[in-house]
Amino acid sequence: MILLDGKKLSEKILAQLKKQVSQLQKKPVLAMILVGDDPASAIYVRRKKIFCEEVGIISKTLKLPARTSEKKLLAIIDKLNKDKNVTAIMVQLPLSGHMSKNKIIEAINPRKDADCLHPANYGKFAQVDENYSVVAPATPFGIIKLLEEYKIKIEGKHAVVVGRSNIVGKPAAQLLLSRGATVTICHRHTKNLAAFTRQADILVVAVGKRNLIRGNMMKKGVVVIDVGMNRFGKKIFGDVDFPSVSKKASFISPVPGGVGPTTIAILLWNTVQLAHLDSRLDSVNPRRTSRLAKRAKK
Ligand code: NAP
Repeated sequence: MILLDGKKLSEKILAQLKKQVSQLQKKPVLAMILVGDDPASAIYVRRKKIFCEEVGIISKTLKLPARTSEKKLLAIIDKLNKDKNVTAIMVQLPLSGHMSKNKIIEAINPRKDADCLHPANYGKFAQVDENYSVVAPATPFGIIKLLEEYKIKIEGKHAVVVGRSNIVGKPAAQLLLSRGATVTICHRHTKNLAAFTRQADILVVAVGKRNLIRGNMMKKGVVVIDVGMNRFGKKIFGDVDFPSVSKKASFISPVPGGVGPTTIAILLWNTVQLAHLDSRLDSVNPRRTSRLAKRAKK
């Protein structure tokens, strides 16, 4: 059994990004909005900040109290959308129930949508040619990068995805499908889950329930991607029972150290793509270029 080392892969991606950022005229700026004081969300945002520093991306964290109104948050996003110095915006999810997640996501300018959540980006991404979108959903794209890094063939394989959320399950299924896998998606209402997981050549589990998947629910040689992050005290566990699953799997992504670090690396990858887009748009914006030309003459 081989561990799919997401930490090592993320370091490789970050090194590439660092090089790209050093070649950009303007350092990208990622604005991260954190509403409330959920400890797990605060840890994720802190980690993203550390990764940004490594790459040379400027990160700005806007910490807002849990009681922040939807109207106030929309106004903050509007300001960030208009701020020429901000390259990308990320709102840490989940948001508290008094806000409409859809309304907040749709308020982000698609050209600054670091998470690829805006329907304009997600819709493009969901086309057969996913390169149509500049950005990609971070966790699922990280999963594909992890499979590619270990030269795991996707085409012709049966991929079973457990979980159908908009941020992980569905886009992961989409990416596997566009790479030629035959995909089955399971969810809360799937009857006899094990009957499906046992058919998987590639099994992606994104549910949020510790030990949901055990070794007796899979065939030998399966590639297991464990996306789950279940916190117990200071420890994090995935959705699969590692001791029994590791006896059956040929490859497995550990928790922590698997999908988590690659997700952050792809978020920064998205930020750098948006910075490239921004600079391309700048170079074709006549008002901006003439302003720059005037400044250069001074
Ligand atoms: P989510 O929105 O809560 O979705 C969970 C999915 O699991 C739903 O589709 C749900 O089905 C399904 N489900 C629930 N119970 C099930 C069961 N008994 N059998 C089969 N399916 C079941 O969660 P999410 O945002 O996708 O996240 C999933 C997990 O991944 C969480 O632990 C989260 O912390 C973790 N995560 C990790 C990263 C990372 O970077 N490593 C990133 C994102 C998320 P229904 O749709 O029918 O309700």
